Amino acid sequence: MAQFIPYGRQSVSDQDIAAVVDVLKSDFLTQGPVVPAFEEAVASYCGAMHGVAANSATSALHIACMALDVGPGDRVWTSPLTFVASSNAALYCGAEVDFVDVDPSSYNMCPAKLAEKLEVAAASGTLPKVIIPVHLTGQSCDMVAIHQAASRYGIRIIEDASHAIGASYKSRFVGACEFSDIAVFSFHPVKIVTTGEGGMAMTNDGELARRMASGRSHGVTRDPEFVQLEDPGQWYYEQHTLGYNYRMTDINAALGLSQLDRLTEFIDRRRAIARAYDEAFADLPVTTPRQHPDAASAWHLYVVRINPERAAKPHRAVFEELRAGGIGVNLHYIPVYLQPYYRDLGFSPGHCPEAEAYYSQAISLPMFPSLTDEQQGDVAAALAQAVSR
Ligand SMILES: *Cc1c(COP(=O)(O)O)cnc(C)c1O
Repeated sequence: MAQFIPYGRQSVSDQDIAAVVDVLKSDFLTQGPVVPAFEEAVASYCGAMHGVAANSATSALHIACMALDVGPGDRVWTSPLTFVASSNAALYCGAEVDFVDVDPSSYNMCPAKLAEKLEVAAASGTLPKVIIPVHLTGQSCDMVAIHQAASRYGIRIIEDASHAIGASYKSRFVGACEFSDIAVFSFHPVKIVTTGEGGMAMTNDGELARRMASGRSHGVTRDPEFVQLEDPGQWYYEQHTLGYNYRMTDINAALGLSQLDRLTEFIDRRRAIARAYDEAFADLPVTTPRQHPDAASAWHLYVVRINPERAAKPHRAVFEELRAGGIGVNLHYIPVYLQPYYRDLGFSPGHCPEAEAYYSQAISLPMFPSLTDEQQGDVAAALAQAVSR
């Protein structure tokens, strides 16, 4: 049998390795010059004023919630089709979370359902302080509509753009924060660009950037402009808030900075793979990803939905047959509120019917830049066989 093909995989070049080795030989392993260089490079790439790097997207989402003053008594809404980190970040701050059901064609937070739910919440005085739309698979949410619905009530927006570095929306890169306060990228190895572990929060608001930088480093500052003591000594620093140690190291940042050079190449290859899958599956009993004309996906994931009426086997059997055949399919995601931890918070099945319908049909196929044409052919043939007779 051919080798196991994973659903996602990093591409690390000799240049990436050399960049990391350079840092290992330098004076600073952490808090050196490479983290700020990486922050500036990502900010300049996506057209945001500031980037605040962190040791994961989860940490970046947490400091983003902290910067927006999310705390006990506040509500945060996100999408049920996401990794648990999107909503956990709000729980870390002591907020209550809820989920807005998805649009059945993009699988992203549905702006109409958001507007409806906000109207109900406004009437009962239970509006959220922050919403966290998630750009699932790398395709931007309908940010204009989401922004319009949220800003009616002064609600702040954090984009969970973990899947979407390199994606664009209305001809600007995701991360430009045109319709949000903050956007967060992940640099986990399965994502588009990797630092090993890592994440970054993008913003155009200098005060939010300062608060996030403080939150990722113990709530401590040395900046004379912000220190309360007059005429401080050179050793002096002050803690003003309760922060964390969420810093990215220079080692990780060097990998990210070097990877960034190939971002366009990565995205081009992912787009080519997506087109080839689209063609290969045109006549199968599956729904291929629908792309909104305003959005150009980064194609972190390629998700097909198995048509339950027309496919030869049920979803689970198709999934298991692919896995058994060496195709590392996956399912992104189990609706977050179905997790036992969230059920204990009071959620139950039926809360977001579109997300649950998706969950009963979705399969993520292998999608990464080094996937060869031959491997892609194997994946396509295996899927065709599994859903047909
Ligand atoms: C990967 C991911 C995260 C968490 O990213 P880490 O860098 O692993 O902390 C959060 N949200 C989404 C949608 C993700 O895919």
